[in-house]
Amino acid sequence: MTEDHIVIVGGGVMGLCSAYYLNQRGVRVTLLEQGTIADTASTGNAGIIALGHLPLPRPGLVKQALKWMFDQSAPLYIRPRLDIGLWRWILLFRRACKKEHVDHCMEMLSLLGREAIKCWQQIVEDENLECAYQQCGWHDVYRSNAGREHALRDAETIAGYGFDVQQRSGDELRSADPAFSEDVLGGVCYSESAIVDPVRFMVQLADRLEQLGVTIHQNTPVEELLMENKQCKGVRVSGGEQIKATSVVLAAGSWSSLLTKSIGMGLPMQPGKGYYLDLGCTETSIATACVLNEAFIAVTPMGDHVRLAGTVELSGLNQRIIQQRLDMLLSGAKQYFQGLDTVKVKSQGCALRPCTSDGLPVIGPVPHISGLYLATGHAKMGLTHGPITGRLVSEGILDNKTSLDITSLSADRFQ
Ligand SMILES: Cc1cc2nc3c(=O)[nH]c(=O)nc-3n(C[C@H](O)[C@H](O)[C@H](O)COP(=O)(O)OP(=O)(O)OC[C@H]3O[C@@H](n4cnc5c(N)ncnc54)[C@H](O)[C@@H]3O)c2cc1C
Repeated sequence: MTEDHIVIVGGGVMGLCSAYYLNQRGVRVTLLEQGTIADTASTGNAGIIALGHLPLPRPGLVKQALKWMFDQSAPLYIRPRLDIGLWRWILLFRRACKKEHVDHCMEMLSLLGREAIKCWQQIVEDENLECAYQQCGWHDVYRSNAGREHALRDAETIAGYGFDVQQRSGDELRSADPAFSEDVLGGVCYSESAIVDPVRFMVQLADRLEQLGVTIHQNTPVEELLMENKQCKGVRVSGGEQIKATSVVLAAGSWSSLLTKSIGMGLPMQPGKGYYLDLGCTETSIATACVLNEAFIAVTPMGDHVRLAGTVELSGLNQRIIQQRLDMLLSGAKQYFQGLDTVKVKSQGCALRPCTSDGLPVIGPVPHISGLYLATGHAKMGLTHGPITGRLVSEGILDNKTSLDITSLSADRFQ
């Protein structure tokens, strides 16, 4: 072990993976989570490790979203309210919905994705994590001509970045997985991607980190970053205890901007709420990981259960559930799969995607402040990019340079 002590704020996938790679380099690490590891956005997601997936900003999306603003059943719902931060975010997001910017996002997300899958394989194998990890790909499945056009347009873009893309007919999908209904017209398969049970991955990785010597404190909110002459020296947790550190990693997901604001740094982020529910495997035979194109719902078999997850809601930093939106997951899935009429829900909930206004994560040192590193803003791709982000955080802090050129992911771009 070196003399360094690194404190990580946040026990989601960014926090745990940063802890993992820093620990591998022999550094003393303390990770602080305000809630529990088993209940973060990183456990409440669809479990798809999606390589080369398109970013949240898309040409025409803002116009469409504003039309949906008063419709709680829309796939993307913005709760109408007077919130300056939200409207500023929407204005910046609108600028990011241009083709040239989406191309730039795709370059960066593809770069991360290609390395991410190697990191995933390495962590799962080296640490013997039993988390239903399978490199079986996922399908973008459609039941309308508009859905087919949308799926094929995305596929063409993603193939342009070198990822494998294969079109399948409805019959081909049904012969591989009879749970698909006759209404399904076809799908696009992204065969290099993988799936995982995020709850088992996160809980087992946290256990393994403790065995490896990482200190993890759950139910321990960080209330203040300790600053001295533009240098972050540690944190103060609730109850008043101060924890000194040589560097602090801010991996606080949708809450990250609360802490950056306290040191005078704006980070345009909004929580993008999504819902999930788990169905028992005895009750459904769904065997294919897929996204239901028209419904914006992901369906992922995870060993002993099948998870439905999806929709995006900009309704502020809270975990209030709109039951109608949760119900949309099962009613949507019924349009693509048979045998779901009497199915029982095992568990359900919502989680917050940390969404920057330009669709790219923020990975790098905080401008003009030493000892503070950011790993946040991964929106709908955070599970996929967690391990590679953790590796980049360890390189950035310990080597002062990273193995991938992530200059354009720096927080400088918002200053
Ligand atoms: C419905 C849904 C489906 C998704 N599907 C996928 C998918 O299939 N594939 C994919 O790649 N991504 C997916 N995502 C996105 C992915 O889950 C997120 O991008 C990712 O989990 C974000 O990880 P994080 O570590 O940044 O944030 P989080 O998981 O939110 O972790 C941050 C943690 O920091 C803690 N924290 C905050 N403030 C403090 C503080 N002051 N003190 C201490 N702790 C603090 C929080 O409690 C939280 O636990 C999905 C998300 C949702 C909601």
